Amino acid sequence: MASVILESIFLKRSQQKKKTSPLNFKKRLFLLTESKLSYYEYDFERGGVGLTLSSKKGSVDVEKITCVETVAPENNPPPERQAPRKGEDYNNMEQISIIERFPYPFQVVYDEGPLYIFSPTEELRKRWIHQLKSVIRYNSDLVQKYHPCFWIDGQYLCCSQTAKNAMGCQILESRNGSLKVGRSHRKTKKPLPPTPEEDQMVMKPLPPEPAPSTAGEMKKVVALYNYEPMNAQDLQLQKGEEYFILEESHLPWWKALDKNGREGYIPSNYVTETRNSLEIFEWYSKNITRSQAEQLLKQEGKEGGFIVRDSTSKTGKYTVSVYAKSSVDPQGTIRHYVVCCTPQNQYYLAEKHLFNSIPELITYHQHNSAGLISRLKYPVSQHKKSAPSTAGLGYGSWEIDPKDLTFLKELGTGQFGVVKYGKWRGQYNVAIKMIREGSMSEDEFIDEAKVMMNLSHEKLVQLYGVCTKQRPIFIITEYMANGCLLNFLRETRQRFQPAQLLEMCKDVCEAMEYLESKQFLHRDLAARNCLVNDQGIVKVSDFGLSRYVLDDEYTSSMGSKFPVRWSPPEVLLYSKFSSKSDVWSFGVLMWEVYSLGKMPYERFNNSETTEHVIQGLRLYRPQAASERVYAIMYSCWHEKPEERPTFTVLLSSILDIADEEC
Ligand code: ADP
Repeated sequence: MASVILESIFLKRSQQKKKTSPLNFKKRLFLLTESKLSYYEYDFERGGVGLTLSSKKGSVDVEKITCVETVAPENNPPPERQAPRKGEDYNNMEQISIIERFPYPFQVVYDEGPLYIFSPTEELRKRWIHQLKSVIRYNSDLVQKYHPCFWIDGQYLCCSQTAKNAMGCQILESRNGSLKVGRSHRKTKKPLPPTPEEDQMVMKPLPPEPAPSTAGEMKKVVALYNYEPMNAQDLQLQKGEEYFILEESHLPWWKALDKNGREGYIPSNYVTETRNSLEIFEWYSKNITRSQAEQLLKQEGKEGGFIVRDSTSKTGKYTVSVYAKSSVDPQGTIRHYVVCCTPQNQYYLAEKHLFNSIPELITYHQHNSAGLISRLKYPVSQHKKSAPSTAGLGYGSWEIDPKDLTFLKELGTGQFGVVKYGKWRGQYNVAIKMIREGSMSEDEFIDEAKVMMNLSHEKLVQLYGVCTKQRPIFIITEYMANGCLLNFLRETRQRFQPAQLLEMCKDVCEAMEYLESKQFLHRDLAARNCLVNDQGIVKVSDFGLSRYVLDDEYTSSMGSKFPVRWSPPEVLLYSKFSSKSDVWSFGVLMWEVYSLGKMPYERFNNSETTEHVIQGLRLYRPQAASERVYAIMYSCWHEKPEERPTFTVLLSSILDIADEEC
């Protein structure tokens, strides 16, 4: 929550944003933080009880404020804005409580014009002006002149200027006075101690800086990884710290607030919703299969190693996988325990030991085996939980300055030219595609790049940005150390286990399920367009890029470079692309994986392949594929697109096999 510097109840004059809107004055609770001056509706009857986040009525960014000054009193104000008459001991008027009269106006000028605020006492007005001047003291747009009188009914009473933003007519006296005072006295960000008067005015706990949330509650998240800001709009994240979400969207960047009141954008994939989420625990690995868990536990080889993962067969449930070994069992044994839940929402692994939460259950079994093969001694984590890619190098940064790039080595040459490995700002690994002139319809691609940057999934090769100010243009993406999947399958010496092959298909299927959900077509899914990172994770690359290729041999289905072997009949015959044509290609990609990188229909040329596919011929079962695996790929090659499964269905079939066969 932003630390509140001052808080008071004032009267706020409406800003007459439209010339015709009537003037009104409303009591509001004003809050000043280092970054915002906000005002809220306040339930005066109930002394503030019922102050909700949705009660925020507006705010002004401190950095936009150009001037803070008093305003000359109104002529003939109504009683509620009248100063006490001589002899009236204002501060002792207990019953007309302080918040009934607001005779002391001041103005906060910002880009939308002046905001007029009326204080109940002179002392409080002074304090606010002083404090506001202190927080704006480094603002770049501070003005030297101001309007000492109100802007009312379309003009300033002091100078008759009609534009709300008209330059001030009087030089600020305080310019060399109070601002300097602000500078020298208010170095600390601590709020001043409240006067008894203020104590009286705000007795209820204050709300956190509100989000424009309709739910009425601000979302709290916890950081799963550290994040260093990449540009001025970003907010730093510290693993384990909590943040409030001010603006949440379906996009990969959210506006957040840290506990010191700093605001900025964060990558949404770096945080998880609440402290209750299991993701913050080292022992929890989301999205890993039974066989992956087994592999990790064996690799670690520690007696009592354990992993908590989502149960692949039972949605919404968790499984604890435990490794135990002993002198009589040096090979080691792995057991998987499904976390059971009673109707009263209590969790257990072994009967009789019931817990209110999974972390409590794990803590218990860290100390007691209580029926398990071993007590839970060593949390084993997936991929050491390295930070995921962000959707761009900082919020809103899609044009990358080529001066920030260092080229380190050439990775290969593709459809569009040379691809190099390099660093961004000397620190982040990136791949740089240097687009050979004439190979791509660049303007169309550049238009679409902003949209494509918002596609962000852990199994998609992330697009980081583009360099379009020079020729050739560059496309900057996530770097994948093990290169393209096709070569990885063909060249790698290691013999893949069936579980690893299935894992590759699962990775691709996850990415495709995501693209399907975004109604985004890949159009050229194949092993050559997938890449493998340093941890062996396969990610889908070059999605949607085929639309920008300028090469007739590639774009025409009769062309020699058209991906005929990955295309269904309706594409070959009528160029009819859909997510179901991507499904067909996915089936062929599974076939490539299980045949370790063979060329599909290897004995046919392109036109023979087209003919055979249209006649109903399909690829055979590769040796490494079980009947069940083959059934999945085969289902992708149904003649009728509507009969082919969706990626969601494919993924669940793959997960079923992962749990049962591997
Ligand atoms: P194009 O899209 O221009 O056809 P490719 O994506 O096929 O180019 O890239 C050519 C080669 O460069 C690939 O086979 C791969 O070895 C390498 N490469 C491409 N992108 C990356 C990347 N992001 N990380 C690592 N290597 C890459």
